[in-house]
Amino acid sequence: MKSAKEYLDSVKSLNPRIFLGGRQVKLLENPTTMTVVNANARVYELGTDPEYDGIMNTVSPLTGGRISRNLHVAGSVQDLEKRAEMATLTSQMLGTCNYRCVGADTINALAGITWEMDRDLGTGYHRRFMAHLKYLQENDLAVSGAVTDAKGERSRRPGQQEDPDVYVHVTEKNADGIVVRGAKVSQSGAIGAHETIVIPTMGMKEGEEDFAVAFAVPNGAPGLTYICQYTPFTAERELVAAKYLGNPLYGQRETCVMVFDNVFIPWDRVFLCGETKYCGRLIARFAKTHRMNCGGACKVGFADLIIGASQLLAEYSGVHKAPHIVEKITDMIRISETARACTVAAALKGGEEPAGSGFFMPDDIFGNAAKLTIADGFWEIMKWAGDIGGGLAVTMPSEMDLENPETAQYIRKFLKTGAPAESRLRMAKFLQNWCAGLHGAGTWHGAGSPMAQKMALYALTDLDKKKDLAKSLAGLK
Ligand SMILES: Cc1cc2nc3c(=O)[nH]c(=O)nc-3n(C[C@H](O)[C@H](O)[C@H](O)COP(=O)(O)OP(=O)(O)OC[C@H]3O[C@@H](n4cnc5c(N)ncnc54)[C@H](O)[C@@H]3O)c2cc1C
Repeated sequence: MKSAKEYLDSVKSLNPRIFLGGRQVKLLENPTTMTVVNANARVYELGTDPEYDGIMNTVSPLTGGRISRNLHVAGSVQDLEKRAEMATLTSQMLGTCNYRCVGADTINALAGITWEMDRDLGTGYHRRFMAHLKYLQENDLAVSGAVTDAKGERSRRPGQQEDPDVYVHVTEKNADGIVVRGAKVSQSGAIGAHETIVIPTMGMKEGEEDFAVAFAVPNGAPGLTYICQYTPFTAERELVAAKYLGNPLYGQRETCVMVFDNVFIPWDRVFLCGETKYCGRLIARFAKTHRMNCGGACKVGFADLIIGASQLLAEYSGVHKAPHIVEKITDMIRISETARACTVAAALKGGEEPAGSGFFMPDDIFGNAAKLTIADGFWEIMKWAGDIGGGLAVTMPSEMDLENPETAQYIRKFLKTGAPAESRLRMAKFLQNWCAGLHGAGTWHGAGSPMAQKMALYALTDLDKKKDLAKSLAGLK
């Protein structure tokens, strides 16, 4: 398994074509793209830390060796539970994405669907996919997951769009492989991954065969361009030293638009091509696992950080024993632990899917409940954090003013409470990162916009059974 240093060495040979803020940048030279590399390195470091071995790693049925859980296909409910625990742990340690999370969930979704296609259609996709997975495991590669297409006009099907490129699709097939065009948006950490696994964003219908495609593409393959998100946090990181920022090493959740401009994919990296009937089930399984992990468990780790920062700020200003503060902190814990309970339930109530495959998926109802609980609850948690932290989280001067002799004495004098001004400023900046930043909308849409989960929850729930229960007790037939 790779150490953090080995990962850092390995990315030196990557050469992704990256644009950020209107100019081309080098992965290892730009302060924002480096946050992705730092975060990945930390995940590798956690993987080699004996304290976290049981959460971060497992034994591969393919290689017989120890592998990162980021590359493991769940084969039991215990595997599912550990996977969710890994999501919480990495969020607690990074305060940003485990950028290998979406990749892990595409791998889990593809394992079952390729198995079914081989069984039903006699394709060789599963053999091919498992051979590729073995290669990923043996080399302990960082894999990102590309699901979300640009999608153009949302009310139109892929084939009805003015520009077909708004959905990734196949433009050519030959004896050696396929050529794909299109773009995937909001791609977490793709720039720092060794590979990206691409799956369709939704179910496909007959006639949409070109859009039904799943494959693995190496970082920086010819025709690939990464156009990074650019936010006030990017500008701030460009302007000032990282130590003054809210999450100095790992920054924000960094994403990009990943453009595929006639990218060639050899057949041994293609895992679905034209089988429209299987796309709906593929994305449904991806959603199942991703809502438990990214939608729920990951955000619980973020909530732990926000709760910790809020409690510290309350203690710094001496209000931590006030009943309304205790109540607000308790409310934050209640929301976060409810979401955590849903992820644990999703794992423990999971089961083998498809039957006979040996692969396991979480329970859908609890997974959707986890994501919905935290999507709403995160705003609530940020509301209380903003309340407890006081206006300082958004009105604070910079720690740089503490280093200027002309202002330092005033900052020390007036921003001191029971705690020194340094501690208050540092923690307020940390909180600013969460409450006055990108995480509200990020948590809302990451792992799918909540309407999708509401539709799933409604469709999955056996309302007839609930009606019968009510009728029976009320004495109605
Ligand atoms: C921080 C972050 C990280 C992410 N990382 C990844 C990643 O690594 N890989 C990846 O593939 N994706 C990633 N995503 C993308 C994420 O999955 C999408 O944001 C999510 O699925 C919503 O899609 P969208 O952003 O295109 O929203 P939109 O489709 O633009 O949705 C906006 C609104 O329109 C509604 N809507 C959309 N379509 C319809 C319709 N047909 N009918 C009615 N209403 C509709 C939605 O419910 C929502 O209310 C990430 C997103 C975020 C925020």
